[in-house]
Amino acid sequence: MKSFVQYDNQSDFSIYNIPFGVAVFNKEYIACATRIGDMVVDLASLYDYSFFDDIEGLNDNVFEAYTLNDFIELGKPTTTKVRKRLQELLAEGSALSLDEKTIDECFYDLDKVEMLMPIHVQNYTDFYSSIEHATNVGKMFRDPANALLPNWKHLPVGYHGRASSIVVSGVDFHRPKGQMKPADAEKPIFGPSKQMDFELEMAFIVNKNTELGESISTKEAEDAIFGMVIFNDWSARDIQSWEYVPLGPFLGKNFCSSISPWIVTLEALEPFRTTSPQQEPEVLDYLKFDGNKNFDINLEVYLQPENGVENLISKSNYNFMYWNMCQQLAHHTINGCNIEVGDMYASGTISGAEKSSFGSMLELTWRGQNPLQLSDDTERKFVEDNDTIIMRGYGEKNGIRVGFGEVATKVLPAK
Ligand code: CA
Repeated sequence: MKSFVQYDNQSDFSIYNIPFGVAVFNKEYIACATRIGDMVVDLASLYDYSFFDDIEGLNDNVFEAYTLNDFIELGKPTTTKVRKRLQELLAEGSALSLDEKTIDECFYDLDKVEMLMPIHVQNYTDFYSSIEHATNVGKMFRDPANALLPNWKHLPVGYHGRASSIVVSGVDFHRPKGQMKPADAEKPIFGPSKQMDFELEMAFIVNKNTELGESISTKEAEDAIFGMVIFNDWSARDIQSWEYVPLGPFLGKNFCSSISPWIVTLEALEPFRTTSPQQEPEVLDYLKFDGNKNFDINLEVYLQPENGVENLISKSNYNFMYWNMCQQLAHHTINGCNIEVGDMYASGTISGAEKSSFGSMLELTWRGQNPLQLSDDTERKFVEDNDTIIMRGYGEKNGIRVGFGEVATKVLPAK
């Protein structure tokens, strides 16, 4: 498949992708959008040109919206048809070829567009599903010989996070202040966090509401998952380590999480489907699943100092995940917890076995013991003020590349 829109073969936004987002066009007009190469396509105007007329469920307001919630709530039968139709419209030599006037009105260069939060996030849950990450943290904070807690291999551990502070790439935040207790201090102190960290994660977004008491099985789960984004779960380690006992993460986590602006659908990720790590011991019946439920998605983290260059500091992969999305959603709802359109479920930090694949500064520097050396001869134990953390992700197989673009966020000095 080729598009009439020219793009580099390293573009994340090939004709195989067709992600969904929300854009401000020309600083004046907001609508749902897709992207091909470096062109952003206004879906509301394409709708007005009647290109989606035969697709049931769509109406005038679905794309002329500030979020994708109404669109994704239409469910897979409709959203899949829209994605397919866009692929046809963008294909070279398609029977549905667009005339120049339509292209002129609906297609925008990247620099004429600003991306917004693509969805209104109703609820946010963060899992802890990478065995390497959980093991590393267990070794550092607890017992190196028994790093994993007894429940870890029996259920996808998670907690309810804060939805209000999830922001899109490009929205910077101020270093959080809070209460900490340094190891050598007798009493807690208050001030800006000195251990600012990122967490390399991915998150999935659901497309349906369920009733209280209802559960979603591992078999039904993918039908409820619209797509995925890259997720940076910012963490203040010094605040976290003092406050987390016994109820878990709170102010060390809830000040900001950042996402990439384009939601890549599960359909677009199909070519990258792969096996998961072997689960031993065997899981309970409601967590069993059939087929390949994991995805081979290359993940990269870069640290860019103010006015400096990008330093690649981690290369990981989503396929390291011990627990997959279907198991996470099945577990989340097995007690009858209802879900809502636009809910976001993050994976937990995705670390591999190699040091170079660790998904947080905490692990990369082993709690600050082994600072990272940057190309400008400075070093980092944690993230400094005015550093930008950039995360990128893509799948690539048999000449097909589908990616997420990036989530880039700068840590501003404490207010
Ligand atoms: Ca996390």
